[in-house]
Order: sequence, then C-alpha cells, then structure tokens
Amino acid sequence: MAELLLPGGWLDAAGSCHQEAAIRPACGEDEEWLYGLPLTTPEPAVVTGLLTRCLTRVGPHAPPGRDVVRSLPVGDREWLILRLWRLTLGDRVELVVTCPQRGCGTRMDLDFALEGLVAEPRPQRPSYSLDPIGLRFRLPHGDDLEALGRALAEEESGGGVSGGGASGGGASETDRAAALLGRCMIPPPSTAEVTALLARTPGLWEGMAEEMRRHSALVDREFDAVCPQCEREFTGEFDPILAFLTEMMRRRPEFERDVHLLSLHYHWPLSEILNLARSRRRRYVRLLLDQLDVATG
Ligand SMILES: [Zn+2]
Repeated sequence: MAELLLPGGWLDAAGSCHQEAAIRPACGEDEEWLYGLPLTTPEPAVVTGLLTRCLTRVGPHAPPGRDVVRSLPVGDREWLILRLWRLTLGDRVELVVTCPQRGCGTRMDLDFALEGLVAEPRPQRPSYSLDPIGLRFRLPHGDDLEALGRALAEEESGGGVSGGGASGGGASETDRAAALLGRCMIPPPSTAEVTALLARTPGLWEGMAEEMRRHSALVDREFDAVCPQCEREFTGEFDPILAFLTEMMRRRPEFERDVHLLSLHYHWPLSEILNLARSRRRRYVRLLLDQLDVATG
C-alpha cells in the first residue's frame, strides 16, 4: 500500500480540499473484475471502478467509495492510475510509437520510467472565476467524464442501429467539449442561457478551457523522442489510462495461466489466490515453474 498526496485533491461539502490518500496494488480479484467487464464499458466508468476497488483512503474517507472517486478531479484520476500501474506492474513502460514525420512513419520501441510522469500540485478550489465576464466554474470531475462517456456510448449504439457512417449525425468533439464545460459552470446553465452567453462572449469555451487547464493539476503526458530512421526529434503524448488498460488486457492470458497453475498445484481456494497482489502471485508462479523445471528436467 502507498500513502500519497493527491496533486488536485478532493473537496468536501464545506469546500475544504483533502489531498491525503492511500492506494493498494491491484490483486487477482481486481483483474478478474476488469476482465469480466463488457468491452463496451466507457473508459471513465472503468477508471471509477478500479479506483473504488484499490483506493483505501481519500481525505477522511477510508475506504472512499464510488461517489468520492467520481468527484475527484480528472487530473487526479489519471495520476492515481499511474500510481496503481507502478504498484501493480512496476515502474517501466514500453511503448511502440510512430514517427510523425511526413514520408517516414518508422515504428520504434520506447521505454521510460513512470516515475518521471508528474503533476504539479494545485489544490482544488470549489470555484473559479472567468474574467472579465465573472462567470463562475469548477474543475471537471470523474462523474462529468462518466456522463460524457454514457452519452457517447448511446450515440454510438444509436449510430449502429441506423447503420450511420463516420460522418453521419451525432455530436462532434467540439459539442462534447462544450457539454463538459457547460456541466462545470456554476450554476449549470440552460441551453438558452448557453446560447445567449455564446452570443455575448465569442471564444467563451476556449477561454474557459484555458483557465481550467491553468488551475488543474494535470499529469505532464508529453515525451520527447528521436526517430532512429530520419533522426528527427519529435514530441509525443502518452495517455496513461488507455496505456494502463491496454497493458492489463494484454496480460490477461498470463493471469489465467497463473490462477490455473496455482490452483492445480497448491489446491488453495480460488478466493485466496485471487486475493494475492499480482507481484506476490507472480513470485509464487515463478517458484512453482522453477520447481517443475527441476522435477521434469
Ligand atoms: Zn522518422
């Protein structure tokens, strides 16, 4: 388990910011839960589920429960997934990236330490003001992302029924960004109010998004790389949540083999095997495989 300080923090009902938290590594039960989810589960819901399972404390709440995890700022959720990654799978990440240079497109392996991905601490406040119009807003939270994820999933399933192509109907990326910003206004405005605001204040969304970024404790996702083929330097962006979930899915066969081997040879109840932290389970499996090697070799 790791004690940590959230870069953005959780706000209680009185508006005080709590940054103390604790998280444990994922164990077999968490992996089984993850592998049992429908593939269509929106990513923000998966993150809420995983953090609800693995966070053991946020501020005064131990364990925090789903509602607290949902009300964590977006940057903290991403940062917590990185901590969960390090605790569960170790500090190294291996990526395959493509050179963005026109006419090159060389694919290369990249390897770096997750420890280097940090978020500048910026304790969250209950509200912020967008000057000079004095509009009040709060930072986006997990439940805002979940609501957008649900809307997107409904849109996509709707598009499937009508056989819609890539250009057919549905909200655009810009509409979704506007929906997120609208949810964060204090108080949340009606559609008519948004229309009136936009007429009075061109560039409202851009200004608000910029201010939100300035006040948010966000993980620095950028990395620099040099293409081995064209030798150009370029900057890429690493998506910690997508990368972590992809990495966990890639390890599913290993998880199933581990559980199978341990049950077969030790006859431990399944619940005990699934309760082991992944690193501990892997140690037992390595010992077992060494022993089997000796026995058969
Ligand atoms: Zn290149």
